[in-house]
Amino acid sequence: MSLLLTRLNTPQDPQSFLEEDGIKLPLLFISFPSAKDPNWDKEFPERSTCEIVTVGPWEWFKRWADAEDPFHRGDEYDRLKTAVGRAMWQQVVEMFPHLRTRVECFEIGSPLSNYDYLSAPQGELYGANHNMARFSAENAALLRPQTPIEGLFLTGQDIFSCGFVGAMYGGLLCASTVLHRQLLLDLTLAFSKHGRKRSKAEPDKKAK
Ligand SMILES: Cc1cc2nc3c(=O)[nH]c(=O)nc-3n(C[C@H](O)[C@H](O)[C@H](O)COP(=O)(O)OP(=O)(O)OC[C@H]3O[C@@H](n4cnc5c(N)ncnc54)[C@H](O)[C@@H]3O)c2cc1C
Repeated sequence: MSLLLTRLNTPQDPQSFLEEDGIKLPLLFISFPSAKDPNWDKEFPERSTCEIVTVGPWEWFKRWADAEDPFHRGDEYDRLKTAVGRAMWQQVVEMFPHLRTRVECFEIGSPLSNYDYLSAPQGELYGANHNMARFSAENAALLRPQTPIEGLFLTGQDIFSCGFVGAMYGGLLCASTVLHRQLLLDLTLAFSKHGRKRSKAEPDKKAK
């Protein structure tokens, strides 16, 4: 299950998270990834994982980007990260109060997690900026698998659109370029063939 909540009041100053309770984040993306695992309930009954993502300026955290030890960036960083994470959780339990007492493990990442683990230059969650310029006709034409360097291709979300699905389509476009094939067309044909076979094999199910 995924939820997307949006508000208009973006906090400008990260300090306010440390000084005030009840600050609302402008956007929360709430998902329960364990719900996608068909074996989860058998292995971990009555338990679930919950992932909450929000947006925040790189400037809030960038001064800790070059810490010698990314696991120990210092108390000030930890306090800020925790205050933002707690504000997010507070917003979630206002909507789902039954979750308030169910926390066994709580981990908080920041744009610096994406910076360190994904090499995202400014901690981006979804790659290239999603502004009007990003989707202009010119940039759409430039962001493609082909590059001027022979044998070097681009793939993933930045040549299509963000998220897992965007990244998968980016992969498909890239593989099509490398193989000189229209893989989207191949897949469409394969799906329609498979669909026809299945409906012939399962006439009773369809009739129901
Ligand atoms: C916390 C979080 C939660 C998310 N939740 C969702 C969600 O619920 N649904 C959704 O659709 N999307 C979600 N996303 C976004 C999604 O993960 C991305 O859109 C998607 O993974 C992009 O795929 P990609 O292959 O383009 O890039 P990535 O998955 O970022 O892969 C790029 C890879 O390149 C590696 N790399 C970078 N630089 C170098 C280098 N110089 N040398 C070698 N390797 C390098 C990185 O380490 C990384 O492994 C989430 C992202 C984050 C960070």
